[in-house]
Amino acid sequence: MGAIRANLQAVSARIERAARAAGRDPGAVRLLAVAKTHPAALVDEAYQAGQLAFGENYVQEALGKMDALACLPLEWHLIGPLQSNKAPPQQLPELAHAVAALPRLRLRGLMAIPEPARDVALQRARFRVARELLERLAAEGLALDTLSIGMSEDLEAAIAEGSTLVRVGSAIFGARQSARDAA
Ligand SMILES: *Cc1c(COP(=O)(O)O)cnc(C)c1O
Repeated sequence: MGAIRANLQAVSARIERAARAAGRDPGAVRLLAVAKTHPAALVDEAYQAGQLAFGENYVQEALGKMDALACLPLEWHLIGPLQSNKAPPQQLPELAHAVAALPRLRLRGLMAIPEPARDVALQRARFRVARELLERLAAEGLALDTLSIGMSEDLEAAIAEGSTLVRVGSAIFGARQSARDAA
């Protein structure tokens, strides 16, 4: 069995275990395979193992792989910043309502990357901030269905806090060589 297939199975098992431990339906947590810095051939390998949804951080890199793999029915998610500014929690409600009002965009939810923490309780506390922000926006009338929190190191804590879309790179594709992923 190829390494990527085995890694995908291991990640899926982690997702399922974490969902069950949280009393959630494992089917309510989707896996996005984050392929940044890895070549199209590895995306193809993950596809052969059954993975359809992929995340990319850099538009140019994404376009190259989308082109190379255009014959496959893949679902691509851009998860990198389009601009260098990220939104601080205080500004979020105003921003979310403004985006939701744009006619050609549909705001689906929030993606968050908290400061990394080793301690699971601390991971959960940080993810909880994102969940509470999403709940607040929903209570204010926005129809949101996506909370994208959780990566290779902390997906269990994120699922416990309600993640619907975990974004997993290194646990599937291995370590990234380049420093670009710090960007
Ligand atoms: C790189 C990246 C990931 C994946 O991180 P891993 O720790 O490799 O799982 C997830 N989300 C975003 C936005 C990323 O840039």
